[in-house]
Amino acid sequence: MITRSPADLQRARQREAIPLAVTPDWQSQLARALRDPQALCKRLKLDPAWLPGAEAGHRLFEVRVPEAFLARMRPGDPHDPLLRQVLPLSEEARPMPGYVADPLEEAAHTPARGLIHKYAGRALLIASPACAVNCRYCFRRHFPYAENSPSRAQWERTLDHLRDDASIHEAILSGGDPLAASDRQLAWLVERLGAIPHLKRLRIHTRLPVVIPDRIDPALIDWLAATRLQKVVVLHVNHANEIDAAVIDACERLKRAGATLLNQSVLLRGVNDDIAALAELSERLFEAGVLPYYLHVLDPVAGAAHFDVSDREARELVAGLREGLPGFLVPKLVREIPGEASKTPL
Ligand SMILES: *Cc1c(COP(=O)(O)O)cnc(C)c1O
Ligand code: SF4
Repeated sequence: MITRSPADLQRARQREAIPLAVTPDWQSQLARALRDPQALCKRLKLDPAWLPGAEAGHRLFEVRVPEAFLARMRPGDPHDPLLRQVLPLSEEARPMPGYVADPLEEAAHTPARGLIHKYAGRALLIASPACAVNCRYCFRRHFPYAENSPSRAQWERTLDHLRDDASIHEAILSGGDPLAASDRQLAWLVERLGAIPHLKRLRIHTRLPVVIPDRIDPALIDWLAATRLQKVVVLHVNHANEIDAAVIDACERLKRAGATLLNQSVLLRGVNDDIAALAELSERLFEAGVLPYYLHVLDPVAGAAHFDVSDREARELVAGLREGLPGFLVPKLVREIPGEASKTPL
């Protein structure tokens, strides 16, 4: 056996520690996310009958689920509300009239690469084309991200657009998931945004604190706490089971950095289409210090028709919520209609 001096050991530890410090833990978790329909079915102990559908859907929009999110699902239950959001089904391949690739016609509103400026006072920046989880109902499942992930030079042009338009008071980081970008990139971008005098607010729309709570690490908190802009983080949670102790802790870290926390959900058949599930979601969000903001009806994106809930039923559900909850726990029921100046209340 070779004995090593304390100094040798110290040096060896430092050598080992360096690669760990370069790749943040959340990035390793993201890299290890499950991306294979067969592995998903096996991990959740599903009947093999689900596999052909999962493979068919996967060919249209690839499976992606991090372990931290998988761990909140019930094995053996194909109707688990979290699994439903990520499990591809054969229905996705069935064409449906009215369900299209770009339901929000965003392609028409991109004045600079990676920028969507549709609403007065607010501009949306595609800060990362990637997501930590691929949600089957996503309206951006067919989005041409490769054309919309700008280089530094292109970012400068996007920033020029914001600098030149003094009517813009809020920069919204979106994606994909903006927090899938590195902290180095985000710190750079947020510093530039903070230097634009007419900007007041930084809003971040993200699902990462929910699917990989470790994403809210010290490097992120550094740039978030440092900006002079007022900060709003809009989470995306559809079911109470998504909020575990780690998510509550991540929310706590965001609040300590000065962020106001809101949530948007999508009303989804088989996930949250009943009053009890929606009420429990609102209660659980508030326990985590998050206020419900929007409940979106489904955007008619090709491959997601099986999630649809009718407008009549959606209104009834929200009316039921209003009877049982304080007003501040009832989200606004909205739809996004291309060409409208804002989200449209139902
Ligand atoms: C939804 C959305 C916004 C934000 O709308 P709010 O009603 O302020 O939440 C901004 N820009 C785009 C392109 C959007 O789709
Ligand atoms: S953009 Fe949002 S809804 Fe769409 S796949 Fe990414 S995390 Fe899911």
